[in-house]
Amino acid sequence: MVQPVTYLDYNATAPLLPEAEAAVRTCLTCFGNPSSVHQAGRRARVLVEDAREAVAYAVGTKPAQVVFTSGGTESNSLALRGLSHSYSCAAVLAPGTEHASVLAHTGAQSLLAVDRHGVVDLAGLERELASVPAPALVSIMLANNETGVMQPVPEIVGLARTYGAMIHCDAVQAFGKMPLLFSDLGVDSMSLSAHKIGGLKGTGALILRDGLKLNPDLTGGGQERGRRAGTENVLGIAAFGAAVRQMPRLLEGMAKVMSFRDALEEGMLALSSAILIHGRNAMRIGNTSCVTLRGVASETQVMRLDLAGVAVSAGSACSSGKIAPSHVLLAMGVDAGDAGAAIRISLGWNTAADDIARFLEAWRPLTRSAAA
Ligand code: PLP
Repeated sequence: MVQPVTYLDYNATAPLLPEAEAAVRTCLTCFGNPSSVHQAGRRARVLVEDAREAVAYAVGTKPAQVVFTSGGTESNSLALRGLSHSYSCAAVLAPGTEHASVLAHTGAQSLLAVDRHGVVDLAGLERELASVPAPALVSIMLANNETGVMQPVPEIVGLARTYGAMIHCDAVQAFGKMPLLFSDLGVDSMSLSAHKIGGLKGTGALILRDGLKLNPDLTGGGQERGRRAGTENVLGIAAFGAAVRQMPRLLEGMAKVMSFRDALEEGMLALSSAILIHGRNAMRIGNTSCVTLRGVASETQVMRLDLAGVAVSAGSACSSGKIAPSHVLLAMGVDAGDAGAAIRISLGWNTAADDIARFLEAWRPLTRSAAA
């Protein structure tokens, strides 16, 4: 399989950081079970606990507050199911712009309204909180995976606490792209995923408020302090730790990434007046751009760019590989035609100025088919 020349799909997954790759190589020979008491087991335990310390340090918590999971999906599921059970939450409230792994836990009647940028309508949230029995569980993402738009988490937390609600935060896309301290958010739990920052797929963490009760999804061996049973994914966890240790460098690089993203948007605007940049006037993380090219289907754009060696994504890809209009854009009130003509371009640690030039070069011919 030929690798794309220009990879601009970091929100789907980031290329492995060299430090994470080095950790994988080192750990391949460390086959012990971290629960075993012999030397091989103790070596594996050290790798797991070192990584736990690195993750805890990166988000400003104690290591005991970090539960390793198989990724963002499991972290969201564990938090929403576990907290609902432990605190008898009557409803999970979340905006319709959340990731599918959160929406799977909400009823259609519990969806919170958002404005045209995708930011939660605080008055609407207050009405919902007042109308459901306490405690409710509010699930809110810090940065949206499709538009990069950030939610006003501290305000949402303030409101939720007034009504005695619990709060979970999906920080999968914000992690590594903005400074992130768990205590600053004031939430009860927070999801992270390793592969979005340059670690391996299939590894993540759920960060829990100190002393929080959490009914486990997986029971058995009592690993992760009884909160997530199953022999730890030592390789993935060690690579996660190695990637997380690069956090200062990743965050430092974000200013450059943001300048590339802004140059990309300026370049697209210069090529066509038939574009809409979603969430451009809202607070956004610096690596993401979600752009509609009116009259040119997302699928067509993604495929034509792919043929030109440029990897981007569109809406949500169903398991069939078919592209459906983005539920995020639809929830923001974007009409179905414009939602079905949007692509997401997301940059990251290895993006260079050349990538932006190559993207614009490959995208330019598509503008000829755009609606006037
Ligand atoms: N939450 C958000 C905002 C995401 O973007 C993703 C991945 O696309 C997930 C959760 C799921 O993470 P994972 O792929 O680690 O299961």
